[in-house]
Order: sequence, then C-alpha cells, then structure tokens
Amino acid sequence: MIQLNKHYANLRESYLFAETAQRRDAYRRAHPDQKLLLLGVGDVTQPLCEKVTTALHMAVDKQAKKETFHGYMPECGADNFKEAITAYYAQRGVYLEKDEVFPSSGASDTLGDILDLFSADNTALIPEPTYPAYVDANIMAGHRIVHLPTTAETGFVPQPDESIQADIVYLCSPNNPTGAVYDRAILTKWVNYALSKQAVIIFDAAYEAFIEEDHVPHSIYEIEGACRCAVEICSLSKTAGFTGMRCGYTIVPKSLVFDGVSLNKMWVRNRTTKTNGVSYLLQEAGVAALSAEGQRQFKETLMIYKNNAKVIMKALDECRIRYCGGKNAPYIWMECPQGMDSWAFFDYLLNQVQIVGTPGEGFGSCGKHYFRLSSFGDPADTVLAGERLKVLFEASGRQ
Ligand code: PLP
Repeated sequence: MIQLNKHYANLRESYLFAETAQRRDAYRRAHPDQKLLLLGVGDVTQPLCEKVTTALHMAVDKQAKKETFHGYMPECGADNFKEAITAYYAQRGVYLEKDEVFPSSGASDTLGDILDLFSADNTALIPEPTYPAYVDANIMAGHRIVHLPTTAETGFVPQPDESIQADIVYLCSPNNPTGAVYDRAILTKWVNYALSKQAVIIFDAAYEAFIEEDHVPHSIYEIEGACRCAVEICSLSKTAGFTGMRCGYTIVPKSLVFDGVSLNKMWVRNRTTKTNGVSYLLQEAGVAALSAEGQRQFKETLMIYKNNAKVIMKALDECRIRYCGGKNAPYIWMECPQGMDSWAFFDYLLNQVQIVGTPGEGFGSCGKHYFRLSSFGDPADTVLAGERLKVLFEASGRQ
C-alpha cells in the first residue's frame, strides 16, 4: 500500500488568510453599504510597468513567428535573464557568475524545493514572527524546527545564539511580517554563526527593492563569508508587481560546499530533473524589469506603496502607537493597543473603522499582541484608513 508523507499530519490548519477572509466577508454581507479598507494581504495592487508590458507583447509576437519562436527554455535559465540578474547584483558590488543564478517561477516554489537538497535529519532555525511557508515546508520535509522568538526590545531582529545547534537558518530582510531590516553587523553575526555550525542560511530577499537606506544590505552576499554558507531566494513579485506573473531567481554560489559536495551542482541536478525552465515570456519580462529603464519604472510604482506606508506610520505616530517597519519595507507591525490580542484587535478594527489587517498571531505565537498592516493597498483607501485610525485611537484614548 502507498505510504503517505506522515509529516503532513503535523501541519497546523492554514487558517490565517482563510479566517480573516471569512470574517471580512461575513462583515460585508451584514453591512453591504460600508466600504472596507483592505490593508491585510501582501499582494500588489498596481499594474506592471510599461517597460515590462512592452517586452511581454514583443515576446508574444516572437512566439507567433517560426523564425523567432522559442520552445523549452534551458532548465537553469535563459542567458540574457541570468545576465540581467548578475548585472542587478553588481550594482551593489556583489559579483556573481551566471551559473550561480537560477531563474525560478517565484520564491515560494524555491522555498519548498530547496529542501530537497537536505536530509530529513536536519534542524531548521526559524526566527518568529515568520512568513508561515518556512515552517510548513520544514514540517513537510520532516525537519526538526527550533523557533526563535524575536521581540520589540531587539527591533524584531533575531540574534544568533551559539548554544542552539541548527543546520538550516532562515533569515528574511526586509522582513515579512515585521518590516524589520537586518544591518551588516547582525548579518555578519549570522554568517559567522552559520560558518561555525556548518549550517546553511536561506536568505529570503523578496522585499529587497523596498530598502531605502544605503547601510542596509540588499543581499546576504554583501557580507564577507556568505557565499560559503548562504542560498539567496528572491522574487520579482513585490519588486516589479509580478505576483500574478510568477518569476523570481535563486542564487546558489559555487563556493557553497558541504562535506565536499557542491550545493550548486546538486541544485543544477534538481532543476534539470524537476523543472523545464521558466517560460520564455516571463524571462523576457524579467530582463525588461531589471533593465535600467525597468528599474526606474518599478521604483516609481514602489513609491506609491512607500507613500502608503508613510500615511500609516504618520497616523500611528500621531496616536503614539508603537510599531516596527514601514521604512525599508512594505509592512508595518504595530502593537495592539491596550494589550488586546491580535484576533480581538482584528474584529475591533473591522467593526469600528472597517479596516482589514492581519492578526500577528498568524505569524507565530510571539505575534499574539501585534498586527500587520500592509502598504500594498489602494492609496486613497490608505489615506482614509489613516484618518479612521486617528479618529478611533483619539476617541479610545479619551475613554
Ligand atoms: N517570501 C516572502 C517573505 C514573502 O512574503 C513572499 C510572498 O508574500 C514570498 C517569499 C513568495 O513570493 P513569490 O510570489 O515569489 O512566490
């Protein structure tokens, strides 16, 4: 009889977005005339930039002609997209070789697939609050998980602890959900930790394009030694509005060698078996996004989200509510007022001011008294949300 992966039984019900959607829809049905302000999910709302859509149209036209038609693409990526990615990294002084760069169908696919390279006997260290996929993917792989809670005292930045023995370390900066960014000093500590434990860091850079301050690294490879211990997973989803397109890239350096075995070679083997490459259209779109003009255009779009973040931060500042993030990141992680727990606060915001956010507890138990607001919403709705938050908190402060 077929033996199933028994680890699936250890997964917790994935209820966070389902539950928030269910409460939102119930409210909508009960109050059809009320406008809801959606600051919950982390999906983009602005369209693709013109440079990308032009490239897509051109690529479609090429597929219509025998002379320019493309069939299967190379499993490990098209040369021109790999070149565009290496040039993008070179802008920050990170020099990669083309065969260290692997175009992907987005970060999520790789976050799951990369675990194929590691045996089930490993321990994953996951700072919390966390993007839930890290936990679920490691449960599915049968890994032991050590949860590392972070707190407001360290700005939700995880601190390495030499007494913890871990083999796979997850770092995400700018962070989802807290919006925290990790500076060079802390990343250096993590790289040293990984090197001393012979562990691998999975660095999730999905939000790197939101970094505004020069001193914040965009890539783990800006840190000395990282190319010997880290894989970097990145995506055009939030950078260039590709959530519905599905295109990203993974960096697996050739100097990443454990026990004499090259992770880069293993990943090539994995890709050539498990994928038939990323579609030609998407890689052309990726090249366009990372061109100088593409970057200029997507940065204009990111400014819309950054202005949204400023509106939310201003409202919270005026109400003296503590929060993390918003500056180099699209998320704002606010403390629920008056010690409320995050689900109670979700209902309170929905019922009082029709704002939909995300309860912090969905990102780990240390998020129980926190709430995630997203800057990916509609700009006019975000302004309205800022005004409603001020009215609400000023009124509740007077009580
Ligand atoms: N990593 C983080 C931290 C995310 O927040 C997300 C999406 O929200 C992803 C990865 C997945 O991105 P993609 O759309 O490329 O699968």
